[in-house]
Amino acid sequence: MTSDLVHHGKSFDGKPLGFGTLSIHLGNGVDAETGAIRRPITLANAYALPYDPSDINWSSSDVNLYTRNGHPNQRYLEEKLARLEGSEDAVVLASGVAALSATFTTFLNRGDHAIFSDTTYIAAYRLLNQILPEKYGIETSIVDTSDPQNVADALRPNTKLVHIETPANPTLKVSDIKAIADLVHEHGQKTGTETLVSVDNTFNTPYNVRPLDLGADIVIESLTKYINGHGDALGGVIATTKARANEIRFTAQVNFGGIISPFNAWLINRGSVTLPLRIRQHNASALAIAKHLESIPSVRFVAYPGLESHPHHDVAVSQLARPDSGFGGVLAFGLDTDHDGHNRFVSKLNVITSAVSLGHDESLIVFLGEDDERQYLYPPEFHRGFFRLAVGLEDTDDLIRDIDHALAKAGFEV
Ligand SMILES: *Cc1c(COP(=O)(O)O)cnc(C)c1O
Repeated sequence: MTSDLVHHGKSFDGKPLGFGTLSIHLGNGVDAETGAIRRPITLANAYALPYDPSDINWSSSDVNLYTRNGHPNQRYLEEKLARLEGSEDAVVLASGVAALSATFTTFLNRGDHAIFSDTTYIAAYRLLNQILPEKYGIETSIVDTSDPQNVADALRPNTKLVHIETPANPTLKVSDIKAIADLVHEHGQKTGTETLVSVDNTFNTPYNVRPLDLGADIVIESLTKYINGHGDALGGVIATTKARANEIRFTAQVNFGGIISPFNAWLINRGSVTLPLRIRQHNASALAIAKHLESIPSVRFVAYPGLESHPHHDVAVSQLARPDSGFGGVLAFGLDTDHDGHNRFVSKLNVITSAVSLGHDESLIVFLGEDDERQYLYPPEFHRGFFRLAVGLEDTDDLIRDIDHALAKAGFEV
């Protein structure tokens, strides 16, 4: 029987437990009532109050009170994710975007300045480029964070947050987390302000890269993607210090209301037990497919940080967390054709599905046309339209055959 020590990720012989063991056992335990070796889903909205409830803090997140204040399935998942990210604490919310907006609204006040990557998830872009400046008086600068000097140049005395997404969705640009964290923290020391570095690590997951080990203050993941891995539940996490996690719980969870449902927390917890196995397969398959695409004459470009041709390949290699880490499952590529040619190719695929999202078991492809609202921020090779391919867990050979077959059927040279 797995001991309570292991369920809390503690060693039984003085040596640390591995990522795979932690992914399975952390946050699990024996159900006290039934003896079940899996913890149940607790679907109640409210919990029994003590004899005299009058001195309860109704905004508290550390007692079972009301489900928006926090609930058992959320806490089990938080315990696991904090440990996998290497943080003191973690807050699990309703979606990746809820985790992003929680970070921005908790740590930015009117008059503060934030810097963010020129390629980020679209909602982060809209929040930082438009909604927070226009509605809440927050100053922001959009910079190409793949060159740390651009971050240094954009820092101001009132800069409170630098938010980077690496690899960036959908251009796969990589930013140097350690170089940025070092220069931002040095700036903070000089100006006597605390400037935080947050990293959207969704494409990497902590199996490939652990931003907190590289000096970041906050790591954000869309759990909807690899950590759940099964394409059936939305969630997001912010991993950071206990003090900051509690600020997020108060502001974003209890008062803005971005709580995850118990069922989704349970699903994500279940999905996450196979994270290391899945990520190793995503890494290997995406690298093989990226190399294969590079060898095809009608493929105009391939962007994948694992390729030596990627402009930030060396930085990507330097950030890997473990000897068997890789570069994730997402790549971008374009064909030497027009708008219709790209769509014709997708229509001939049989295994790969045309749908948004990524990090699922099944492979997903999306054609991002020439009229994306952020087109002007993308490198020139992306301007003629491109695909984001999220390589799934099917047999690599079947995926390569599907791509080659669809190219031939759509009239391209293979
Ligand atoms: C999908 C995604 C998000 C948003 O996550 P949701 O769970 O869909 O809200 C944020 N960042 C990145 C990099 C993503 O791919």
